[in-house]
Amino acid sequence: MSQDPDCLFCKIIQGKIPSKKVYEDEEIFAFHDIHPAAPIHFLMIPKKHVPMLSDMTIVDQQLLGKMMLLAPKLALELGARPGGSGGFRVSVNTGVDGGQEVYHVHLHVMAGPRPWQR
Ligand code: AMP
Ligand code: ZN
Repeated sequence: MSQDPDCLFCKIIQGKIPSKKVYEDEEIFAFHDIHPAAPIHFLMIPKKHVPMLSDMTIVDQQLLGKMMLLAPKLALELGARPGGSGGFRVSVNTGVDGGQEVYHVHLHVMAGPRPWQR
């Protein structure tokens, strides 16, 4: 699995930096955001280091689909309210204009009663 020794999220995957783990399998790692912007706020990352969503290719199609299908499952497990009266947000900040701060692609999953900070 290709990782970047200088990448914060690669270090989290390796356990070199502590995190509050939500989920892990051979391809995906999920953990609580250190500065939650909603009552439930976790990040989902591929274990392989890819800087941005726009760096992903057709090779990553299955992985991205898997992450998108896993997001609602994990959100519900962590207490997101089901159905249309509940719900959650999935976002992928990409690049400077997209507000990305950590250059290891990640899905933000936010849920819980409003108001949220973002
Ligand atoms: P982005 O702006 O999309 O790159 O978001 C990066 C996110 O990573 C922010 O919401 C941060 O709060 C979060 N973050 C930064 N460092 C850590 C960390 N050590 N553990 C958990 N989340 C972090
Ligand atoms: Zn990385």
